[in-house]
Amino acid sequence: MNTMSNVECRMSNWNLSFDPQSAIHNPQSFGLYIHIPYCLSRCHYCDFNSYRLDSDQAEQYLQALAREITVRASSDAIRHRRVCSVFFGGGTPSILLAPQLNGVLDRCRAAFTFETGAEVTLEVNPGTVDLPKLQALMEGGVTRLSVGVQAVQDRLLQRIGRAHTAHEAERAFRLMREAGFSNINLDLMFGLPGQSVDDWAETLDWAIRVGPEHLSVYGLILEEGTPLDRERRNGDIGLPDEETEAAMYRMAKDRLREAGFEHYEISNFARPGFRCRHNLVYWQHQEYLGIGAGAHSFLAGRRFSNELLPARYVSAIAGRGTAVACGEELSDEMLRAERLMLGLRLLDGLELQTFKNALGVDDLAASDRATRLLDDGFLRLQDGRVQIAERGLLVANELIVQLL
Ligand code: SF4
Repeated sequence: MNTMSNVECRMSNWNLSFDPQSAIHNPQSFGLYIHIPYCLSRCHYCDFNSYRLDSDQAEQYLQALAREITVRASSDAIRHRRVCSVFFGGGTPSILLAPQLNGVLDRCRAAFTFETGAEVTLEVNPGTVDLPKLQALMEGGVTRLSVGVQAVQDRLLQRIGRAHTAHEAERAFRLMREAGFSNINLDLMFGLPGQSVDDWAETLDWAIRVGPEHLSVYGLILEEGTPLDRERRNGDIGLPDEETEAAMYRMAKDRLREAGFEHYEISNFARPGFRCRHNLVYWQHQEYLGIGAGAHSFLAGRRFSNELLPARYVSAIAGRGTAVACGEELSDEMLRAERLMLGLRLLDGLELQTFKNALGVDDLAASDRATRLLDDGFLRLQDGRVQIAERGLLVANELIVQLL
């Protein structure tokens, strides 16, 4: 799922007030991430901080969230600032009851000051919502849903251990519309074991037909220690080869652009006006506060994260009101490198001066690495910004690493 836990560092252009289209934020605003670490079952590729739902523990966990929200809201780093976006990620936040989720959101509204029109996203898995629940969430102030669909072939969903069928995904989407949600993201995955180019085309066509406002399109990564990774170590699991994966990415890019989606981040596409405000906080290197087990924060040049295990998180909050397990001060050099790494993910790219600062040069010609990538057509200079060019999109992560 596309949460703060899996986009490790996110965070700016510091000098302007928020506009979702130009993706610019007020320096006084910050993103709020809330981690719900429970799922129906464990997907075979998952390395997120998630566990099977334990209802008793979930009650204690919600009480701990409420306490952490209150404590954090009164801290010096936060007290006079405004929330521009809230993101309930996980895990599967929609596994909780609507009154439980609305209770957390109410607590946030009581503790923090929200910007007018702040985005409130909830991650949802098909099979965990019905119409009354969706209506209650909408009434509670959720403005955006992000749905883990991944694929529309049941054999593929089973293969990767998803707890839903394609039919349930489509039904959930219809119910969301019926409940009145007009800002919905669908997560899709390519590069799955046994997935053909035709399967992927069918998934994209389905997504275009149902018509969400936003699509996140990620290639499967086999993280160490996951069941799929173990299977791969024991033999061929039918993963598409590199060339096929590249073709799948190009197909997504071409079809979604043709269907009217703006390709605004390497893996993200939006209808005009529907870029994800919360994820822009990360990509623009803006500040965020993470609440809950394992949640990461970036505030005042410092990065820190909470106790990973829900039980340890709950007991830390009970004991001292916060649950920070580790943290580090970021040097100016680290901050510049992060800004470059995150900002280049956006197709709008980075201002030339920010890019030069990150590389520590006054003139681009002084950086052999940047000059070579520009000459080879992987990067381009456009309207005073450095951007990843079309031919660089497929290898964006490697390019960024080369630059750092
Ligand atoms: S739904 Fe699957 S991938 Fe997402 S957090 Fe739960 S187990 Fe992991």
